[in-house]
Amino acid sequence: MNREVICIMCHLGCRIEVHVEGQEFKQVEGERCKKGVKYAQQEVTFPGRILTTTVTTDSPEMPLLPVRSDKAIPRERLIECMKHISKYSVKGSVKLGQTVIENILGLGADIIACRTIPFELPNIRTGV
Ligand code: SF4
Repeated sequence: MNREVICIMCHLGCRIEVHVEGQEFKQVEGERCKKGVKYAQQEVTFPGRILTTTVTTDSPEMPLLPVRSDKAIPRERLIECMKHISKYSVKGSVKLGQTVIENILGLGADIIACRTIPFELPNIRTGV
């Protein structure tokens, strides 16, 4: 069986032809680099995505905190995860990279913060 996969690992978006026999991944054509081979293999055997979304907070300066999964989540479970995350609200301070939801739906992926609350301005010196 052949399947066409469009690689999303860079802006070139190579169309990769994947040859599969049964459950076995045989070969690929059309990729321009090794990242494409790995991506195509994953797309055929375990299609998953890093989930990015937001959770509500009690912070007036950042009412929505950007979060993401630390691992790929199976594509067919993304909507379920989004519904689960929508029930959460972050209270108080959070550090960048801190786990907000551990092992979401038992999938082995944590949902982590992509920002710090309270928001910290970078320490930039003007040089004056
Ligand atoms: S195969 Fe390589 S060059 Fe082509 S889109 Fe994927 S990462 Fe980019």
